[in-house]
Amino acid sequence: MTKKLIVGNWKMNGSLATNAGLLQALLAGLNDDAIAVADVALCASSPYLAQLQTLLQGTALGWGAQDCSAHDSGAYTGEVAAAMLRDFACRYVILGHSERRQYHGENDDLVAQKAQRALAAGITPIVCVGETLADREAGRTEFVVKRQLSAVIHAVGHCASEIVVAYEPVWAIGTGRTATPEQAQAVHAVLRSQLKAASAHSSRNRILYGGSMNAANAAELLSQPDIDGGLIGGASLKADEFLSIIASCP
Ligand code: PEP
Repeated sequence: MTKKLIVGNWKMNGSLATNAGLLQALLAGLNDDAIAVADVALCASSPYLAQLQTLLQGTALGWGAQDCSAHDSGAYTGEVAAAMLRDFACRYVILGHSERRQYHGENDDLVAQKAQRALAAGITPIVCVGETLADREAGRTEFVVKRQLSAVIHAVGHCASEIVVAYEPVWAIGTGRTATPEQAQAVHAVLRSQLKAASAHSSRNRILYGGSMNAANAAELLSQPDIDGGLIGGASLKADEFLSIIASCP
């Protein structure tokens, strides 16, 4: 069985002081059993990456960012290049989160270019895909997630096995409404076959579920055959809850 991957998406939350407290609590609570069953990482806002690097270097916790530019460098005010994230030893970068697709107009092509840049910088992209409620009700879930993933697969070519995919139904993010384990598994199975068709090394791909995962529902979701971990928003801001999710990994 693939080792699970549990990633906290802190979104635009935190401060130097609260981050330090949260990291201290997580490091204190992360025991050998947890580390044996899951790789764990936290994705913070860019200004805090230096803090994560300082406090987490040499620990079992990895870290990453929540976005990167589709460009290498140059006149792109406000953007952060993947190579800059590498300077802070980021292992991961979340790309194409539905909040970026929705509030920043990111489309499949842009997300695909960002994934290329991340891989070129030696950072693992966590590519988010997911349908809206309207898509689901119109029976378009499979079509939408396959289209979103396909753009990235085509752009990254032979590196397709190096990406992490996060299935995040938009209607489940931050709403307290979770996909049932059966609903999530069904979409993960679709994504798995797409990844298998794209690369002979697809056993390296991990497919995470995200959308109101918490201590109460994690075990059932994480026991599904094609759910290789979780991308956790709100619950990653509470040390106890995040640690319980990690401990739920089978
Ligand atoms: C997310 O933002 O990636 C997410 C899954 O959020 P939440 O867990 O709060 O639904």
